[in-house]
Amino acid sequence: MDELAIRRIVVVGGGTAGWMAAAALSRVLGRAVEIELIESEAIGTVGVGEATIPHLQYFNRLLGIDEDDFVRRTAATFKLGIEFVDWGRIGDRYFHPFGTYGQEMEGLHFHHFWLRQAQLGGALELDRFSIGADAARAQRFQRPDHSRAGSPLGTISYAFQFDASLYARYLRERAEASGVRRTEGRIVDVALDSGNGHVQAVTLEDSSRVAGDLFIDCSGFRGLLISKALGAGFEDWSHWLPCDRAVARACRRTTDPLPYTRATAKAAGWQWRIPLQSRTGNGYVYCSDHLSDDEALAGLNAALDGDPLSEPNFLKFKAGVRHKAWDRNVVALGLASGFLEPLESTSIHLIQSAIARLLTNFPDRRFNQHDIDYYNRRTRVEYEQVRDFIILHYAATTRDDSPLWRYCRSMALPTSLEERIAIFRENGRLYRHDNELFSETSWLAVMHGQGLVPRRYHPLADLLPEGELDKRMTHIANAMRLAVDRMPSHQQFLDQIGRTAA
Ligand SMILES: Cc1cc2nc3c(=O)[nH]c(=O)nc-3n(C[C@H](O)[C@H](O)[C@H](O)COP(=O)(O)OP(=O)(O)OC[C@H]3O[C@@H](n4cnc5c(N)ncnc54)[C@H](O)[C@@H]3O)c2cc1C
Repeated sequence: MDELAIRRIVVVGGGTAGWMAAAALSRVLGRAVEIELIESEAIGTVGVGEATIPHLQYFNRLLGIDEDDFVRRTAATFKLGIEFVDWGRIGDRYFHPFGTYGQEMEGLHFHHFWLRQAQLGGALELDRFSIGADAARAQRFQRPDHSRAGSPLGTISYAFQFDASLYARYLRERAEASGVRRTEGRIVDVALDSGNGHVQAVTLEDSSRVAGDLFIDCSGFRGLLISKALGAGFEDWSHWLPCDRAVARACRRTTDPLPYTRATAKAAGWQWRIPLQSRTGNGYVYCSDHLSDDEALAGLNAALDGDPLSEPNFLKFKAGVRHKAWDRNVVALGLASGFLEPLESTSIHLIQSAIARLLTNFPDRRFNQHDIDYYNRRTRVEYEQVRDFIILHYAATTRDDSPLWRYCRSMALPTSLEERIAIFRENGRLYRHDNELFSETSWLAVMHGQGLVPRRYHPLADLLPEGELDKRMTHIANAMRLAVDRMPSHQQFLDQIGRTAA
């Protein structure tokens, strides 16, 4: 091994980010590198973060996780997308499905043909062309079946909704089995090298000292190393995303769990509902300028559909991103690196993606600044792309029933988002920049769902004769319906996997 190779990694924090990092790094690096994770039970974790996006399947595969075992152990349900209620207008409902709509025709995205048919006056609802949306409404689920050539069953895309504390425990078991050492204790001091300013060691309350070559800061909003010790600044995005508080509370499940998350817009924010096998997770994300904590809790309690199972958990945050997620020998992951509200369940994905980027740019003890700069640039682009997508939900609205919505509908947007909306409004075109997280399907679902209507569609969509267009659209919608009819109910599918142990 190179004498400048990293030999000791210290992970600070044992929330979702800390255990994801420890599990992945130990799996990939093996026992050639010592990994120690420090966490403090007295401080605890945020204890939320229960809805995910499909990419988590890649992370599971990297860790060699058996998916059925994972579902049982984390009380998980399957997720086909998110239902948005009251966003574009009070009374509106739309579904943001995973997967795609219809199928490409004549080399064009499906939605141009759908827009043409809509302008002709004969189109079915957009959801009828998404197996995810259709199955979610019917409360059905199965994994994709690739054996049926051409069937929409092969295009099912799904994620999970799980218990965050069970997930951390599950990852911890795996990480410890691959050699990660866990140390319990509160870090009270951080020692920096007087020459290069790198973190040398952290000191715990009992005066023990833990040294390392590379530190992964997963200490949550505190940013113990990246912010408090190294002073990597924070770019505040709260002028675009003004919600700065949340209150979370679990309740008893009263019906079979739905295979989707629901996000319901409220006068001063929005509420989530995440159905798990064991319970339902609920939360109210709100803007403290317009709603007190007591009012938020009262609103949340009123929306619970079963008896509460936990005390309310109040959280404070600010939307934004660290100027540098990687500074010197410290890489911040999770809440220590930035925060975007959980409207599209993206935070766990951002952790996973940052771990992958760290592995791609894995350093030695020289800590090549070009690699670090590249890592930071990519991190920022990723955050900005997700940020724009989340802002879209607030900005594309006709709601004017409260100060929050009046502010959001008239706020100045990031140029990148403004341009995207302008292009869509003009001719329905959607772009996936730079392999960004959200695909054309996602942008379409939300733009259409929030009430943005393009003036035109792609001119080449006119090349298909009208009769042929109708025939193909009917065929696709029927194929979706038949496919959904063949699927088991979500509950039946969970029953086949086996219940979570109580
Ligand atoms: C309201 C809300 C809802 C969310 N919902 C979702 C969602 O649905 N989907 C999603 O993907 N993400 C969601 N997230 C984000 C998700 O919860 C986080 O990304 C994820 O939990 C990671 O948190 P973390 O590990 O970075 O921080 P934390 O969970 O805060 O963990 C920090 C760790 O650092 C340790 N620590 C801190 N200081 C010290 C110290 N001095 N000494 C020792 N240890 C220390 C703590 O003990 C803890 O172990 C949500 C976030 C919020 C706020």
